Amino acid sequence: MSTKSQDASARLNLTSRAYQKQDSIIDVEGIKIGGGSGPVIIGGPCSVESEKQIIETAEIVKHCGGHMLRGGAFKARTSPYSFQGLGEAGLKYLQKAKTVTGLPIVTEVVAPNDVPLVAEYADIIQIGCRNMQNYALLKECGKSRRPVILKRGFGSSIPEFILAAEYIMSEGNLNVILCERGIRTFCQEMRFTLDIGAVPLLKERTHLPIIVDPSHAAGKYRYVNSLSQAAIAVGADGLLIEVHYKPETSTCDPDQAISEDIFFPLVQNVNKIYNVLNTNIM
Ligand code: PEP
Ligand code: MN
Repeated sequence: MSTKSQDASARLNLTSRAYQKQDSIIDVEGIKIGGGSGPVIIGGPCSVESEKQIIETAEIVKHCGGHMLRGGAFKARTSPYSFQGLGEAGLKYLQKAKTVTGLPIVTEVVAPNDVPLVAEYADIIQIGCRNMQNYALLKECGKSRRPVILKRGFGSSIPEFILAAEYIMSEGNLNVILCERGIRTFCQEMRFTLDIGAVPLLKERTHLPIIVDPSHAAGKYRYVNSLSQAAIAVGADGLLIEVHYKPETSTCDPDQAISEDIFFPLVQNVNKIYNVLNTNIM
C-alpha cells in the first residue's frame, strides 16, 4: 500500500458517523434541516423564467406550507441547445421573490467561477446531479460558507456520493445536505428510479441531512405525491419538489412540475405522515 492510500484510509472522514455521532442540523434563516427537525419542503420551478413566473410560484410555495424557494438561474442541461437559464437576471428575480415572500432561496451553480456570484444570492447552493463529480466545483463550494445541497449523480454509487460530499467538507464547509434524486436502472417507465433505500443507508453512514427530490425521479407530475410520502416515511429530512404556477408552460421539465392543486395536499400528506411516525404513542 502506498503512503498516500495509507493516509487516506487512516483519515476519519468528515462525513462519517465515526467523526460525528449525532445528526448534523443545518440552520438556514431559522429553518432547521436534519436531526428530526421536521420535514423541510423546498419548492419551485426547474428554471427561473421571468419575474412574474418566479414571484407567482413563490407565493404558491408559501401558501401551501413550503419553507424555501428553489429555482435555477444557471442550468446544466443535457443538450447545449436547451434553455441554459437567465443567469444573473434570474438570480435578481429570485431575490425579488424572497423580498415578497420571505422564503429563503435555493439555486444551482454549474461553474466554479460562478460560485461567489451565486453565493451572494443563494441561501443554499445546489450542485446538480451531473456535477456531483465535478471536483473543481465541489472544492469551490467548499470554500464558500453557504450551505450546499449536493444531488446524487444518476449513475453514482453511495460511496461515490459520500466522497463527493467529503470534497466539499474537506475545504471547510461542513454544511452539506445530501439529495437523492433517482438513479438510472432498467425501469423505463419512470424517468429515473428513486433509490428510497439510499435514505436509511446514508443516514447510517453519515450524519448529514438527507432530502429527496421525487420530481426528477418520477419525471411525471402524477407520481410526485406518492414518492414524496415514501421519502418522508423512510426518514428523509425534507423534499425538493418542482412546482410551477402554470406547469404546462414550463420551459424545462414541464411533465414533472406540479401545480398548486397537487402541491397543497402533498404538503398536508407528508406532514401527517411525519407526525404519525414521530409521535410517541406510549
Ligand atoms: C434540477 O434540480 O432542476 C435538476 C436539473 O436536477 P438534477 O441535477 O437532479 O437532474
Ligand atoms: Mn428540473
